[in-house]
Amino acid sequence: MLQTVLPQPLELELKEVGVPTPAAGELVVRVRAVTLCGSDVRVWKGEKTGGVAWPATIGHELAGEITSVGDGVTGYAAGDRVSLAPWFTCGVCEYCLTGETNLCDNMEVFGYGISGALAEYTVIPALGVANGQVVKTTDALAPEISALAEPLACVYHGHSRSRIHDGSTVLIVGGGPIGLLHLELAVLAGAGTIIVSEPSASRREFARRHGAHVTVDPINESLADAVAAATGGTGVDSTIICIGHGGLVAEAIEVTRKGGLVNLFAGFGGDGTGTIPLNTIHYRQQDVIGNSGATLEDYRYAVELIESGRIDLSEYITDRFPLNELDAALNRAISGDAIKVAVIC
Ligand SMILES: [Zn+2]
Ligand SMILES: [Zn+2]
Repeated sequence: MLQTVLPQPLELELKEVGVPTPAAGELVVRVRAVTLCGSDVRVWKGEKTGGVAWPATIGHELAGEITSVGDGVTGYAAGDRVSLAPWFTCGVCEYCLTGETNLCDNMEVFGYGISGALAEYTVIPALGVANGQVVKTTDALAPEISALAEPLACVYHGHSRSRIHDGSTVLIVGGGPIGLLHLELAVLAGAGTIIVSEPSASRREFARRHGAHVTVDPINESLADAVAAATGGTGVDSTIICIGHGGLVAEAIEVTRKGGLVNLFAGFGGDGTGTIPLNTIHYRQQDVIGNSGATLEDYRYAVELIESGRIDLSEYITDRFPLNELDAALNRAISGDAIKVAVIC
């Protein structure tokens, strides 16, 4: 079978290796599709090295079917269509014990510390099988759509902490795939006014088709003026920052109303610092929150949202590449024009 391997950043090998056989507790999955994520791109470029085991086989947003089942595994059979919640949590740390498994002290992530899915077959380690991270999925959807449960789960985790409800005014800063998934959930929650700030014209157009009431080109338009016009000068109830530019945070806080909330959803580039208006937060009594990962419950809910049709992700895969063109797929993901790039294994 073919397996992609990154010996180090910006170097890619396609290796012919034997099809794996599962050890006790493991599952072997024939990978059908892997969607690429901003963090895959950061590993490829060498910007993300923490938590990555080199040489690396990346890929954590996957769907496929089980081909063989290790001794002792119950509840799964060859032929099951599955996707994977890629967060391997320990189950015994303070956070796991209180249900905040996304904050697990000992987390390892499939596709980073654990060899990932960009191969024809992949092994799901026993811990993930035992945790219930392998989720059976419908075969009514294309596998590259099922793979999107992973980013949707992370977005749902952030959304559920952002106080968005019927009639809310919401600002989404950054209309890439993550910002657009936040848009879908805000629409589903009945938000009254949703503003998306995004420099790419094609992504702004996508956002309008998917329910954004106002889109802003932050390069050529004033975000503050657009928010003031859309909210009668009040500012938005909730702002979600979906692009990791620290310089955008101060303005996002300024356009959020008194008592409002700002979610730093994105991870931030550079040295990860920025300047924020402390007295705006203080006098406006705002909540500025962070966000990281998702729980298994979030993942299962994301699968449910996709399979029930309550969220339609059929337009999200803008590009498809075969496994032997992973470098082209990564470059396409870097381009900033695609929504989601899928590798069809
Ligand atoms: Zn991802
Ligand atoms: Zn833990």
